[in-house]
Amino acid sequence: MGSPTGPVRVRMAPSPTGSPHVGLVRTALYNWAFARHHGGTFVFRVEDTDTARNTQESLDALVDLFTWLGLTWDEGPDVGGEYGPYKQSERFEIYADVARRLREAGRAYDCYCSTEELEARNERARAEGRAPGYDGHCRELSEAQVQGYVDAGRTPVLRFRMPDTAITFDDLVRGEITFQPENVPDFVLVRNNGHPLYTLVNPVDDALMEITHVLRGEDILSSTPRQIALYDALAEIGVGNGTTPRFGHLPYVMGQGNKKLSKRDPEANALGYRDAGFLPEGLLNYLALLGWAIAEDRDVFTLEEMVEVFDISRVNPNPARFDLKKCEAINAAHVRALEVDELAERILGHLQLVGMLPAEPTEAQRAMVRAATPLVQERMVTLGEAPTMLGFLLVEESEFTRDPADVAKLLDEQGVATVRAAHDALAALEDWTTDSIDRALRQRLVEELGLKPRHAFGPVRVALTGRRVSPPLFESLELLGRERSLVRLASAQTETSAG
Ligand code: GLU
Repeated sequence: MGSPTGPVRVRMAPSPTGSPHVGLVRTALYNWAFARHHGGTFVFRVEDTDTARNTQESLDALVDLFTWLGLTWDEGPDVGGEYGPYKQSERFEIYADVARRLREAGRAYDCYCSTEELEARNERARAEGRAPGYDGHCRELSEAQVQGYVDAGRTPVLRFRMPDTAITFDDLVRGEITFQPENVPDFVLVRNNGHPLYTLVNPVDDALMEITHVLRGEDILSSTPRQIALYDALAEIGVGNGTTPRFGHLPYVMGQGNKKLSKRDPEANALGYRDAGFLPEGLLNYLALLGWAIAEDRDVFTLEEMVEVFDISRVNPNPARFDLKKCEAINAAHVRALEVDELAERILGHLQLVGMLPAEPTEAQRAMVRAATPLVQERMVTLGEAPTMLGFLLVEESEFTRDPADVAKLLDEQGVATVRAAHDALAALEDWTTDSIDRALRQRLVEELGLKPRHAFGPVRVALTGRRVSPPLFESLELLGRERSLVRLASAQTETSAG
């Protein structure tokens, strides 16, 4: 099941409203992996017919997001393609034409019912224990009735005539699903102001763009029988190539308290992960696990590995739970797995993103980050920790500050005496290497002064890095260099909690 025979064409079809949601990324990833696995085409279509809610900012955010993630699209905004335009706002003439032809073929009809009338009839249906929904009132109006509505100044919506038979399809994720006709009433395609709705434009574009597989969220499952019926009508009037795509509905993503992860949940904001320093491959690896597994007992994999084995029929239909801790753990595994030079580049990129480094770092800054990367690779969960972990190596001496709480805790009288002793031991050092620094400090502080290592190195660490937690101390001293290290060990003696 799910193994296509012809060329695969799939799409992601986000609406540019608000900030992109991680659920959207999961859907896009599955489509992308499916396309790449089958050597198919991945289309990016922008569903921006809701002119009141769409924003350019939101569209830019989508493009930035998918570019950052590396989910490259073969057709769509920026890259074009032979099925364009790929923005629905540029396709209104197409929809008007299809709507007209559906009406002429009798597959859709003008409906003059007002909202109040529809509500009253739904109310009655409920009271009588029948399913609410359009009752077919305007299906067969006489000319006189139509004239009456027109004279009363009413303008019609265009409504699709659903077949009176059950609709069954074989969902790629959920297996066979049947909808009974009483649960899928006739529905509106075009508003009475001429504005086409999602119900029309989404399947029309899937048909015209020759989409073969529609993989999307479970929240849209209820519109699938309508779309399948509409596909039949489109085939009849010659829109598209006459074949209906296969559908697969992906499981819900649940957040805290077993509620659907909503756009308002902070962990739902997909671009937030870039800003927080997640690696795209880490985030994608985690999101892949929301409904799919590469193998039992294996959570960490590359995108290439996913593409190689991705099988839509192995997606689990049960809701998936979003777990930020696990997302971080997966990201940390990808941080460890990067080549050091590559990780250094990513760290540089993040330090630029947060403004700690200029857009064009100097060669010295680059070299410092490269040299420091091995010290933090095993400790870092996200690149977001780089500014605190490495800031002390990169700031101008005049800008260097220490964490007041850590100063208060460690640079008391005893701490300052320790820092002074460390300064003197290091000032006398001939060669400035991790080993010689290590030996000199141990000898002076631990052996001669009899301090426990924790008491010996804590104050030195705060003096040098500004913080109680830092990359390994001796390596950090070596990287910072003799001159700057001695300046900090001297200045710390006056910045004391002892006053
Ligand atoms: N624009 C729709 C959405 O964002 C697309 C639904 C679909 O994939 O068919 O929900």
